[in-house]
Amino acid sequence: MKLNEANLNALPAGINVPNYDRKALTPGIVHIGTGNFHRAHMAVYLDDLFGMGLDHDWAILGAGVREGDEKMRRLLETQDYLSSVTERAPDSTSTRIIGAMPGFVPVDPTNAPLIAAMSDAAIRIVSLTVTEGGYFIDPKTGTFSPEHPAIQRDAANPDAPETVFGAIIAALKARRAAGLQPFTVMSCDNVPHNGHVTRDAVIGLARLSDAELAEWIGTSVAFPSSMVDRITPATGPHEIQMIAGLGLEDAAPVTCEPFRQWVIEDNFPAGRPQLEKVGVTFTEAVDAYETMKIRILNGGHAILAYPAGLRDIHFVHEAMQDDQIRAFLDKVEQTEILPIVPPVPDTDLSAYKQLILERCANSAVADTIRRLCLDGSNRQPKFIVPSIRDVVAKGGDATGLILLSALWCRYCFGTSETGAEIAPNDPSWEQLTLVAARAKDDPSVWLAMREVYGDLGENAAVVARFDQLLRAVWADGSQAVIARYLDGTL
Ligand code: NAD
Repeated sequence: MKLNEANLNALPAGINVPNYDRKALTPGIVHIGTGNFHRAHMAVYLDDLFGMGLDHDWAILGAGVREGDEKMRRLLETQDYLSSVTERAPDSTSTRIIGAMPGFVPVDPTNAPLIAAMSDAAIRIVSLTVTEGGYFIDPKTGTFSPEHPAIQRDAANPDAPETVFGAIIAALKARRAAGLQPFTVMSCDNVPHNGHVTRDAVIGLARLSDAELAEWIGTSVAFPSSMVDRITPATGPHEIQMIAGLGLEDAAPVTCEPFRQWVIEDNFPAGRPQLEKVGVTFTEAVDAYETMKIRILNGGHAILAYPAGLRDIHFVHEAMQDDQIRAFLDKVEQTEILPIVPPVPDTDLSAYKQLILERCANSAVADTIRRLCLDGSNRQPKFIVPSIRDVVAKGGDATGLILLSALWCRYCFGTSETGAEIAPNDPSWEQLTLVAARAKDDPSVWLAMREVYGDLGENAAVVARFDQLLRAVWADGSQAVIARYLDGTL
């Protein structure tokens, strides 16, 4: 049966539908980047809140600045902006319909409809999931890049911006002129210190065309940081077929794991929904949660992904069924990462690590090793290199993490250990394969990539260990080297 408002009460049994009157919702949030993750995460929390009869003036208006977002808008329009979200555990599947988004702003190259929507007094939060690459960060400096061509174009045309940040600035300017309080800007992307990064992008771009406006934004607009977590795979034929099997016709279904977490810095001068009533943590310690997640979850993904990629393993849960890879992940986490993760309020780090192992083993989510191996050149410097640095600074033994760096280097050579070709899987793939080929004879060139390793390539002990481990991986294969790591003879 087609998903839409009229059919809500006639959907197949077992599919939960909103118990509130969607027509009575009014938007308080514009969300830019209405991809799968937003619909599996923020929209679900708000749906829970509306289901409690609370805060119906905080509904979400979907939005976006790319052609793909217009495609999504058209798909959702055919079903009254309803989305199905299916939680998949190995032994159970549950589907619910999310009604928290009553509308979607038309996507236009000038972004005029988006700017108008954000200029409306009723909108008090603008939230974002525009991917890690959407923040115009210069990989060499790790900070906002004013030289990026899209940023330069927006600086020259502030009234018809093409970027998210240009549109936000134009709307803030319009609100200021109308005497309206600014909205709060909340990033929900997987970017360390996402509030600061967003603030730097908005103010950095504003400065290029209107220094005075930039100054006002700096003193008047809040950019709370948040930590978000829920594994949400892309929707492919597998997912569409699974939903069709339930008797539901959804043009853009979302599937995800049962687990979800959202930790937010409580800095919302224009007000916010009472998300603490539906399990969201508001805290001053977002950074601590974020470090925990980035080091243990995202770092853990890398630790299992590269050995699995070298063995041609397709799914994440299949990697977890490999006793050696599972033991490798567990040992590196337990002995190298956990000791350097600062304490997190009300959280037992060992239990958190155990939960990560269970989440990775969830066969129903069907997350892929290739997705986890993607974009190592951006991910290693955030998820692995800082842990090596911290272990070394504390005088600890970072053998497992350095071995993982060697396995990533071996992966970037471009073939698995069976000789199968690895298709390009990084924006810098071409350069990485060249350096990985040279590193086979001279491992030090890998750590000399300053944009990834910073000054770690100047640490003689780390360089010597990496040299030994990469040569061993090439000579004996990853399985033999990981076995020696596990029995303590490496
Ligand atoms: P998706 O591909 O379904 O959606 C991506 C969205 O970002 C789209 O709306 C797209 O138009 C927009 N976008 C991409 N690049 C952009 C740019 N340069 N400027 C403006 N908009 C841009 O992906 P998703 O699964 O929804 O994930 C989006 C982000 O959510 C991730 O990059 C990550 O930061 C965060 N996240 C995802 C997961 C997950 O498991 N999928 C988990 C935690 C956090």
